[in-house]
Amino acid sequence: MSTDVIVRAEQVTKSFGDLHILNGIDLQVSRGEVLCIIGPSGSGKSTFLRCINHLEKIDGGRLIVNGSLVGYREVGEKLYELPDRAVCAERSNIGMVFQHFNLFAHMTALENVIEGPIQVKGVGKKTAIKQGLALLERVGLGHRAHAYPRSMSGGQQQRVAIARALAMEPKLMLFDEPTSALDPELVGEVLDVMKDLARSGMTMVVVTHEMGFAREVADGIVFIDQGRVLEAGLPEQVLGNPREERTKAFLSAVL
Ligand code: ADP
Ligand code: MG
Repeated sequence: MSTDVIVRAEQVTKSFGDLHILNGIDLQVSRGEVLCIIGPSGSGKSTFLRCINHLEKIDGGRLIVNGSLVGYREVGEKLYELPDRAVCAERSNIGMVFQHFNLFAHMTALENVIEGPIQVKGVGKKTAIKQGLALLERVGLGHRAHAYPRSMSGGQQQRVAIARALAMEPKLMLFDEPTSALDPELVGEVLDVMKDLARSGMTMVVVTHEMGFAREVADGIVFIDQGRVLEAGLPEQVLGNPREERTKAFLSAVL
């Protein structure tokens, strides 16, 4: 397999008890690509992102991220579960941004950003601070480095969350509806940071209902319905000229 494939899902399945949530997801994301995932609520989008990030174990199929099988090590024909330490090492290559920013409330913006590099990567404090300030600058928040989350707007908090994820120097960034919890006037500033990141060549998987963003930034779109990829293609095709009735119905509801 080409090392330029960052995410490859082949017939990925996942159930919670009797609930079949992912029913054979197939997709691929290459280095530097932005894939947007759209689809109705409850269709398994978050579950799939959580599988990519080792937060859920898949039941069937194959999921390969950054060149390794997620959750397992393959030796010949046999699969062995990865030990926790190996899972942490894999996960440190993946940044994830959630709908609710999940910042540490008792830490300033800068402290939030430098925590991972210092604790997980063993970066020295001075270096971490220098890099952290540069990242906050990059998301337009250099002037808020010493502010606490409670004193920041939702849009600012989400930009700190993005800076915090980037501080780990991930090879892949996952976004799960990063603007869904924001007041409408704050959505743009977060999307702008994500657009810059995409332009810088970051590989991104973005679950979003922001069709303008998807159309402008995505290299590919997948429409997930009932735990399957119902339709996939270029943005102009999937958003502009969808093949499937259910894609059409979904788009006319969100647009
Ligand atoms: P989406 O992000 O597309 O809205 P989700 O992946 O969050 O969908 O959820 C898909 C379905 O899986 C939902 O019906 C949800 O209730 C269910 N689900 C998600 N996580 C769990 C869990 N840990 N246990 C049981 N059911 C879950
Ligand atoms: Mg979700």
